[in-house]
Amino acid sequence: MSDRDTIFARIVRGELEADVVHRDDRVTAFRDIAPQAPVHILVVPNEPVPSAADVEERHEALLGRMFLVAKRLAEREGIAEDGYRLIVNCRDHGGQEVPHLHLHLLGGRALGPMLAGGGGRG
Ligand code: AMP
Repeated sequence: MSDRDTIFARIVRGELEADVVHRDDRVTAFRDIAPQAPVHILVVPNEPVPSAADVEERHEALLGRMFLVAKRLAEREGIAEDGYRLIVNCRDHGGQEVPHLHLHLLGGRALGPMLAGGGGRG
């Protein structure tokens, strides 16, 4: 699968249906198809950057836009005051399934500890 042909690239291009909640010249946001919380929105760059490990200096403004859009969507969804979680999974060990950079915006309930299991350095 090339960067341009991921599910998210196709949603950005309007070729695949999604519940889009925001679209601008740099960023698209849509509801996750398998929500893990009452609010679960994915904020993705329109440019197909594969992962957090692939960002470059030229992406600085884009990354800022992703955070601003997440903040505004959290306000619009009514979860800003109680708080929420932003997650970026990166590559295999990070559990990234779709190789197109995305910010998960999760909220609407207390989300518990950051990671499901233990397995730290101990
Ligand atoms: P990640 O594991 O960080 O790569 O997250 C990928 C996310 O994309 C998962 O939460 C999926 O539920 C979500 N997802 C996969 N396909 C779609 C789709 N067509 N529309 C919306 N969300 C999707």
